[in-house]
Amino acid sequence: MDRVSQVIQGGYCIGCGVCPFVDASLAMRMDEDGKYQAVELSQEHSDIASRVCPFANGEYNEDVLGKEIFGSVSGIQHDDVLGFYLKTYIGHAVSGGFRDKGSSGGLVNWMASKLLAADKVDAVIHVKESSDGNVMYSYQVSRSVQEIQNGAKSKYYPIELSEVLDYVKNHDERFVVIGIPCFIKALRLLEEEDESIRNRIKYHIGLVCGHLKSSFFALAEAWESGIDPEHVKNVDFRYKLPDRPANDYAIKATGISNGKPIEVVKPTRELSTTNWGYGYFKYNACEYCDDVLAETADVTCGDAWLPGYQSDGKGTNVVVVRNSDILDLLEKFSSETQLEEVPSELVVQSQSSGVRHRREGLSYRLHLKDEAGEWRPTKRVSATDNIPRNRKRVYEGRIQLMNESFTAFHGAQESGEGMSFFVRHMGPIVKAYKKADNPLWRRIARKVKRILSGTR
Ligand SMILES: Cc1cc2nc3c(=O)[nH]c(=O)nc-3n(C[C@H](O)[C@H](O)[C@H](O)COP(=O)(O)OP(=O)(O)OC[C@H]3O[C@@H](n4cnc5c(N)ncnc54)[C@H](O)[C@@H]3O)c2cc1C
Ligand code: SF4
Ligand code: SF4
Repeated sequence: MDRVSQVIQGGYCIGCGVCPFVDASLAMRMDEDGKYQAVELSQEHSDIASRVCPFANGEYNEDVLGKEIFGSVSGIQHDDVLGFYLKTYIGHAVSGGFRDKGSSGGLVNWMASKLLAADKVDAVIHVKESSDGNVMYSYQVSRSVQEIQNGAKSKYYPIELSEVLDYVKNHDERFVVIGIPCFIKALRLLEEEDESIRNRIKYHIGLVCGHLKSSFFALAEAWESGIDPEHVKNVDFRYKLPDRPANDYAIKATGISNGKPIEVVKPTRELSTTNWGYGYFKYNACEYCDDVLAETADVTCGDAWLPGYQSDGKGTNVVVVRNSDILDLLEKFSSETQLEEVPSELVVQSQSSGVRHRREGLSYRLHLKDEAGEWRPTKRVSATDNIPRNRKRVYEGRIQLMNESFTAFHGAQESGEGMSFFVRHMGPIVKAYKKADNPLWRRIARKVKRILSGTR
């Protein structure tokens, strides 16, 4: 088995916070790039720390865990991207204001509330605004619909589980946890080791995941909107704009400007940092991840990034159900949702670019590591450089965009120039990347097509 120390020293830690929970020789800290990272307090770590780490435990991967958890569920099917699944849906919550308050269709918080209402759990573990002045968001425990709704929306922000796991350890209650795929995998691995955690975490709601951001993302968004990093209080990453398509959303940043409280709403299309394809401020670990749809969660929700749904700015979810209790819940409260059962391929299609980056792209990144003779995690995808030349340039470009975004943000802070430094630093790198992503032959082909069809 690979070791947790290889993960940490190789830069593959996603900062989930599960290893410090099982091993006092490890701790969490926020690094200079705004990412939670595990740190080694001594050289020796227990085997259990390596067994619970989602990047160290390559043998106990999502296929193996998924089979163990869902393999014997009646009617279960399997797909390479979705993992195990019973049914797949597209839809949204219709009651309780969950959709208005949510990032997309509001089904994640709606489901958590229904698990509470149906007395399936006593509390919900999810990410909410933090009262600790050092971070904007953290994992917390909610016990009422109101408390759950106060924590609506996606937090593209560093979070970790160690403190909330201490809470679970000290409270003999039933919990549902909401999390991104690698965090859910880490919890499942922990549950293999720790009976009390296994007995208490009754359900896992997964979020589809493109990648996780360092705290620089929130700071940079707010800074470009007119609030200095040291005066930002909070960023709502998914502020819905009336009458705009779902993917044309804004951010809402709050803080202090010229000594007065300020609130700014800025469409993400006007910000230089929000193109998800560029992957600014991404954790390096995300480049070595192959689970897009939280394959070990009881149910997973994401955005329906699909023609026909994207135009509805109120937001729509894709849903993958793996646990029959969740199916029963959807049925029992069906009057509170608008759900359409859809072919599983449609859900896969809704995440096509994320999947390509984590299949074809991952295989090439693994090849690059192997070629350099560097340790890297064991993945379900094999290393290869047998992919088209322009795609190699795209994936190399994305690594550079990720790395340089941190350098550029430090430069923006140190130079005193602010985000104009950032934009200037990133400019040529973005230009080269765009050229690779949209090569000359493709531009010519598009032009010829336009001329032939008379649309120019
Ligand atoms: C880092 C990240 C990357 C994502 N990438 C994609 C993507 O590539 N494609 C896609 O389709 N969807 C992605 N999502 C999911 C998407 O943004 C929505 O969260 C999802 O569609 C659920 O929307 P909703 O309206 O049902 O959720 P809501 O009803 O708004 O509920 C969201 C719930 O999730 C919890 N939560 C928010 N952020 C986090 C977090 N970081 N960790 C754990 N819990 C959290 C909240 O506390 C809340 O309980 C991502 C989410 C995150 C956090
Ligand atoms: S990914 Fe999680 S378990 Fe692995 S080293 Fe980092 S904090 Fe520890
Ligand atoms: S991309 Fe993978 S590793 Fe990164 S946060 Fe999402 S699930 Fe975790």
